[in-house]
Amino acid sequence: MSDWSQAKRPIPVPDQWTQPFWDSAKREALKLQRCQDCGHFQHPPYPTCVNCMSIDMKFEPVGGAGHIYAYTIMYHDGDKRFAGAIPYASIIVELDDAPGALMAGNLLDAPYTEAKVGRRVEMIFERLNDDITLPQFRLADTDPTE
Ligand SMILES: [Zn+2]
Repeated sequence: MSDWSQAKRPIPVPDQWTQPFWDSAKREALKLQRCQDCGHFQHPPYPTCVNCMSIDMKFEPVGGAGHIYAYTIMYHDGDKRFAGAIPYASIIVELDDAPGALMAGNLLDAPYTEAKVGRRVEMIFERLNDDITLPQFRLADTDPTE
């Protein structure tokens, strides 16, 4: 199991496009950007829809259930802030409620070897400070592959 207690995570800095995302994460009720013209979810947020170029974008609530779309296992300490957690799994997750929007996070509360494409995960929230709470993931209890 990766020891995240020794990692020193960099603190994300919200901007005009990402502020609604961070505000929702702080309340542990995630919202992702959705195009109001074609319905496409996207993450990270952009000024325009990457599918149809619309500028009518709003943030909508999404649930935290999804699956691992891709992953990598970090064995090297090129970034010393994460050295204490090596080896660990960085995962890309596609949420059930927001197909097409891919979220990056870490697989927490499980051995890094449990990161597999297609595995069911659920979102959990890691509070970094008074302003920033980081969406993260753990294995879902109802993993049909087990
Ligand atoms: Zn669109």
